[in-house]
Amino acid sequence: MVKIDELGDWRRTHRSVNLSPKLEGQQVTVMGWVSSIRRQGGIIFLILQDSEGVVQVTVKTGKTPESVLKRVETLTPHSVVAVKGKVKAIDKAPNGAEVSPEEMRVLNVATKTPPFSLFGGELPNIDKRLDIRSLELRRPKAQAIFRIRHTALAAIRDFLSSTGHLEVQTSKIIASATEGGASLFPVLYYDKEAFLVQSPQLYKEQLTMSFEKVFEIGPVFRAEPSRTLRHLAEIISIDVEEAYVSYTDVMETLEKLVHHTMKTVAEKCKSELKELGVEVEIPKLPFKRLTYTEVIDILHDAGDRTAWGEDISTAATKKISEIYPSFYFITDWPTDAKPFYIKPRTDKPEISESFDLMKGSLEISSGGTRLSSKKLLTKRLKEQGLKPRTFEYHLKLFDYGMPPHAGFGMGLDRLMMIITKEENIREVTLFPRDRLRLSP
Ligand code: ATP
Ligand code: MG
Repeated sequence: MVKIDELGDWRRTHRSVNLSPKLEGQQVTVMGWVSSIRRQGGIIFLILQDSEGVVQVTVKTGKTPESVLKRVETLTPHSVVAVKGKVKAIDKAPNGAEVSPEEMRVLNVATKTPPFSLFGGELPNIDKRLDIRSLELRRPKAQAIFRIRHTALAAIRDFLSSTGHLEVQTSKIIASATEGGASLFPVLYYDKEAFLVQSPQLYKEQLTMSFEKVFEIGPVFRAEPSRTLRHLAEIISIDVEEAYVSYTDVMETLEKLVHHTMKTVAEKCKSELKELGVEVEIPKLPFKRLTYTEVIDILHDAGDRTAWGEDISTAATKKISEIYPSFYFITDWPTDAKPFYIKPRTDKPEISESFDLMKGSLEISSGGTRLSSKKLLTKRLKEQGLKPRTFEYHLKLFDYGMPPHAGFGMGLDRLMMIITKEENIREVTLFPRDRLRLSP
């Protein structure tokens, strides 16, 4: 049995990235997990990994205290250790410095070896990796993806705060569907049936009454019937809503938001992007705008038979993206193809003030001008086979005068697929949920 030490009063004095030749001779305490143990004659190179990089601990027979040497010999990769020692400037070491150990605490020992190498070699399929997700997240590529996600999220918050939107959080447990449909997860709420939200749509619309411009970044839940590379049952949605504007205004906000996010990632995540072997293509503003009717015409010219009024299939959007490879909007959808809260055009009610933002054949966002008249909302609810009574909690607010408003919802996970060029949404989500996966 290997003895396990307690952390006790030891605290890390330096992270890997803080080590430098300038600290020559200084005593430091470093901590991390063992990413490799390499023997070379009488020297053992112990490489410790912390969240920012690696520290080289150099153990020398005859020089390193016997007590430390003995313990190093029992170490297995992924074990967690703390080392106290002196810094030595070494050109070839990471950060130009190594640590000559004087004392060591073994904080935990890995009794198992990961079933696959986290550093190079062939990776097993994602399902095998997800089974030990938090461990496999030590992989450099996975580290890069989630650092980029952090940076993208911060950029999104910064941008929307700079445009004067207020960040809000709305409830995730609701009494009735946002948009109807079968994709809701029921939950037992005390003795009643309730649901997990599929979108903060109605709340964010209501909040334009009191705050005018709001955004929410939070989870939404959809019981997607099929398992695809682009659908999960739980995602993070970036929702934006604004009073006194229409869909053309929020399309501008959205394209600038995407542009700002991609530019920030390109500037701040150079090493992560290099790790992924990916270059961020910062899109040119403004994005191409195609009406739904134009798209149908382009498709017909390309031999596709999608009829006006039908949804545009993934295969069809692939054809469009051959012509428009960067981001593009599809605007002015048939009213019947959009949810009840989307505003039909006054002059042509069969067409709605709506848009989808696409990159290639991937939908990233949907939005539009919303109805702000209770009468029209009630009419549209009925036309879509929904019961206005179930939406009474929402509709009654419209009696007090709802400002005209517009907004959009964008999937963060989908945006991450675009930035990192990952084809499977599960790669950019820590703990993905789908029809077959409820753990870890
Ligand atoms: P799709 O047609 O791709 O299934 P949708 O039109 O049903 O998406 P919306 O209700 O418009 O989705 O949701 C707004 C955005 O949220 C989408 O554009 C997409 O980025 C993201 N999104 C929606 N559902 C999912 C899902 N199940 N998995 C991942 N992202 C999703
Ligand atoms: Mg959509």
